[in-house]
Amino acid sequence: MEDLKNFNLPELKKIIKEKGFEEFRAKQIFEWIYKKKVLNIEDIKNIPNKLKDEFIKKYTLSSLNIIKIQESKDGTKKILFGLLDGNKIESVIIPDKERKTLCISSQAGCGCACAFCATGKLGFKRNLKAAEIIEEFLRASLLEKIDNIVFMGMGEPLLNWQNVKKAIEIFSDKDGSNFSQTRITVSTIGIVPVIKKIADENLRFYLAVSLVAANDNLRWKLVPFNKKYPLKEIINVSGYYNKKTKKEITYEYVLLKGINDSENDAKEITKILKGIKCKINLIPFNAKLNSEFKRPDEKNILNFQKILIENGYKTFIRKEKGTDISAACGQLAGE
Ligand code: SAH
Repeated sequence: MEDLKNFNLPELKKIIKEKGFEEFRAKQIFEWIYKKKVLNIEDIKNIPNKLKDEFIKKYTLSSLNIIKIQESKDGTKKILFGLLDGNKIESVIIPDKERKTLCISSQAGCGCACAFCATGKLGFKRNLKAAEIIEEFLRASLLEKIDNIVFMGMGEPLLNWQNVKKAIEIFSDKDGSNFSQTRITVSTIGIVPVIKKIADENLRFYLAVSLVAANDNLRWKLVPFNKKYPLKEIINVSGYYNKKTKKEITYEYVLLKGINDSENDAKEITKILKGIKCKINLIPFNAKLNSEFKRPDEKNILNFQKILIENGYKTFIRKEKGTDISAACGQLAGE
């Protein structure tokens, strides 16, 4: 059965009108879904019974079930969801002082196969539908008030752009959750034509690009997708994005001991990003069991940051959160 959350408000209006009901019913239903967060059509109260019965026969409001919630010592919560076809995905609620960031998945598994990422080891299962992405948020916000959303969970959001974009548009609909797009960040391995499309479309969320390495020789080894979209193209499209949107890009850089964490690597980054309006987030590697990669020593991480800052780049080190429950970047494996 199709989930009603796959429809934006104009689409819902059209469906309702076609069934012979007044258009304003769509807004009422939208409010029940996104403001009152009902997960069953049965729980929608003030609509005609006939409309409700027709909807119950044809549609659902529940595409996920919570299999397990784990809580870390630092307050991070990892939610394991089952999809109706048996696939599993994860979302993570990350506390930072008073604020809560929800990290959501855009695909079940991931086809990018980045060498250092646990999700990549699963392979690609399938794209999530807009309704499934939205329900990650709705279910998480029934547990905690969510302040920010980051598409940094399982999957490559720009390879499921249609559904991710629709979910973002529905998140930010003022008749629904009214979640500001400026509190949403989409993270990508660098799918160049889609970045260009985003730049052209005047959307208001933030873009993060996973740099991983400062030259193609190394990036080819770590990120198979680099064969399709090499660094030069990613940097070019970043400049285009800057120009069109007037927004800065965040570059994420996973730090792998002895692989991409030398002073030379840092200097190379400062060269390739010259002229791009950006900030840099360093993510020291989060290990899973038996990983071939290691986290650099604290001293090296700080030195790497120092070089970037000295060259004029705003650079932050991502704090490790939820590692004891495998909820940190690159540890999501749907277990
Ligand atoms: N596919 C998207 C979003 C998911 S990964 C992307 O590639 O951007 C989110 C971030 O976590 C990426 O910057 C990725 O490089 C980083 N990451 C992946 N595995 C990691 C690990 N084991 N330790 C630290 N960061 C990791």
